[in-house]
Amino acid sequence: MLMQSKFICRKFNIMKKVILLILFSLFLQQCAQKKVDLTKQPEQKIMEDNTHKNNPYYSRTDKTKLNVSNEEWEKILSPEVYAIAREANTEYPFTGKYNEFDELGEYYCAVCGNHLFRSSSKFASTCGWPSFFEADKEGVSYKRDSTHGMERIEVLCKRCDSHLGHVFNDGPPPTGTRFCMNSVSLDFQADSKK
Ligand SMILES: [Zn+2]
Repeated sequence: MLMQSKFICRKFNIMKKVILLILFSLFLQQCAQKKVDLTKQPEQKIMEDNTHKNNPYYSRTDKTKLNVSNEEWEKILSPEVYAIAREANTEYPFTGKYNEFDELGEYYCAVCGNHLFRSSSKFASTCGWPSFFEADKEGVSYKRDSTHGMERIEVLCKRCDSHLGHVFNDGPPPTGTRFCMNSVSLDFQADSKK
C-alpha cells in the first residue's frame, strides 16, 4: 500500500514538472511572437510612405541624363510602370488616375522624377488620357513613331528616355498642341503638399 502511494506521488511530481515545462515553453513562444510583430510594423509603414524607396535614380532635382538598361529598370519599377514607360505600351483610355483630375501642382516622370508639366497647361480633353497644351522644354524630347500603321510623334522623358505618350497638333490655344499622356508615366505633386 505504501509502495503504491509512493509511486503515485512520484508520478504526480513528474506530471507537475511536465505541465510546468509546457507552460514555460508557451510563455517563451508568446514572447518571441511579440518580438517579431514589433519589428515588422515600422518596416511596413516606411514602405507605404515612400514608393520610390527602391529606385536609386529617382530625383526631382538632379537633371543628369540617365543611361540605365531596361534589364535594370525591370528590377526597380512596378510591372505596370515598366510596361508603359519602358516598353511603350498604352494604358486603356478613361482609366488613368490623372484623366479626370484638375488639382493644382506639378507633374513629374514616374520613372526618374524629372519635371514634365505644370497643371496650368492641363486641359479637359475628351480623348481619355491626361492632356496638356505645353510641356517643360527641359523635361521632354521627341521621336518619330511609325508603329501600328500610323505616323505619330512619341514624347519621351528627356532625362531617362521613358515613354510618356504622343503629341498631336489638334490642341487648344495658345499652342494648338495636345500632349496625350499615360497617367502611369506621371507622378503628381500637389501645390498644397509642397
Ligand atoms: Zn524620366
